[in-house]
Amino acid sequence: MQTGDTISAIASPPADAAGRGIIRLSGPESFAILQANLTAVARSTVHFERGIITATLQLPRADDADRALQFPCLVALYPAPNSYTAEDSLEVMTVGNPHLLTRLQSAFIGGGARAAEPGEFTARAYFNGRLTLAQAEGVAATIAAASDAQLRAAQLLTGGKLGKICKILSAQLARALALVEAGIDFVDQEDVVPISSGQLQLEIRSITESIEKITKHAVAMERLAATPRVVLMGPPNAGKSTLFNALLGRKRAVVSSTVGTTRDILAEPMHLDSSDPLSPEVLLIDLAGLDADDAGFFNPQMQAAAARACAEADLIIRLHPVDQIMSDISQHLWPGENGTPQIHLRSKCDLGVDESARRASDPVAPSTDLEISALDQKGLAELRKLIGARLQTRMAVLGADAIALEPRHRAAFAQAESQLRSLGVDLAKASSDHASDHLTEIEFTAVRLRLALEALGQITGTRITPDDVLGHIFAGFCVGK
Ligand code: GDP
Repeated sequence: MQTGDTISAIASPPADAAGRGIIRLSGPESFAILQANLTAVARSTVHFERGIITATLQLPRADDADRALQFPCLVALYPAPNSYTAEDSLEVMTVGNPHLLTRLQSAFIGGGARAAEPGEFTARAYFNGRLTLAQAEGVAATIAAASDAQLRAAQLLTGGKLGKICKILSAQLARALALVEAGIDFVDQEDVVPISSGQLQLEIRSITESIEKITKHAVAMERLAATPRVVLMGPPNAGKSTLFNALLGRKRAVVSSTVGTTRDILAEPMHLDSSDPLSPEVLLIDLAGLDADDAGFFNPQMQAAAARACAEADLIIRLHPVDQIMSDISQHLWPGENGTPQIHLRSKCDLGVDESARRASDPVAPSTDLEISALDQKGLAELRKLIGARLQTRMAVLGADAIALEPRHRAAFAQAESQLRSLGVDLAKASSDHASDHLTEIEFTAVRLRLALEALGQITGTRITPDDVLGHIFAGFCVGK
């Protein structure tokens, strides 16, 4: 990826002209490129200081070279180094017309900018030391987040919590390495006492225990991404849409007593504890196609989508309304059992139908786990608990203090931990074999500590160099006094 030049990109999603459009520039020529595209008046008055200004951009007209098209816009100016990329940067906010944005982008490219590659602004922030690798990954995760838990996990990465943890561990490890290398490089210095084997083993144990604790309590990012899918199923008019709305606490699905009213598959994230935004989330899905009991409403595409949603479900909630007889319901519309956990609900319990009489007339109805009335909000708290219990092994909970790790972070921690653990074992063996606390195999020990240090460095993208290690030595000893 090339750096040092000026890059430009349309930063807003494709929108109609009513929306706002954003074009972003970063690099040494950003301000000059903008200036060249301003009207003469705007050009003479603009000051490139940090802040938001109003300006009028102009574009040449294809049909009349003497008259330009003019567009009012807002421009946010971020002079280096206090910008996202640490370079001179700006954002032009204007009408979201896609044609206009493309023309502006072409004008900026014609003025010397290069079309940015995906992620290039964040890559520059990393290369220019504004973000660590883990923070840059947090930016990507924020963009991709589809649930609160994923957003929080991304924010913890962007906030640099993982980087801070790695920095502390790396400093601890670098100090141990410095003490080991002191035994190689400064062995003739009277003030330099190489670390003893016992001392080093204690240091290593403390670092490995910290790594173990972090990886044990961290949540895998990919588990957060896979929010469990809970599908509501049941015959037409069972009360699925009413329950969907009641669980979400807002009107999302259309409720109607006309069979086949819900035509789309609706999916909304839902916290299992509605009062706790840190509680686990599931994706609640209200099916449509399986309602199509009436041949007139039959829609094969909708049916196929509904069957797919069932096949991908982590939990199926089946509603058995008290005012319908199971034997009367077209069983062919219900997908077969495929081992997916299920919750059977007796819905519309407020209607007060005599259960034993109903059971006698409806022998195929399965026994139910819970009675609910979405209309009266009865049994909903119990249902949330039951969903949590049935999905316990599938649920990723991200506590306020936890961090989420990408597979790459886990692999790096595992690499560092394995180096340190096997070094610890070898040191303990050497001490007992030689019945001495003196550190032998110093070079070999230093190499393994370096490998562990490099593994931790891969997480943040910052490497500890031999000079940094020397810095620890000079800070702690009177070498060369
Ligand atoms: P769906 O077809 O399964 O999505 O069912 P709807 O949620 O559209 O509800 C069908 C009808 O049943 C509507 O008239 C609702 O008002 C009514 N209904 C839904 N839930 C309840 C309930 O808990 N009690 C009662 N009495 N009626 C309900």
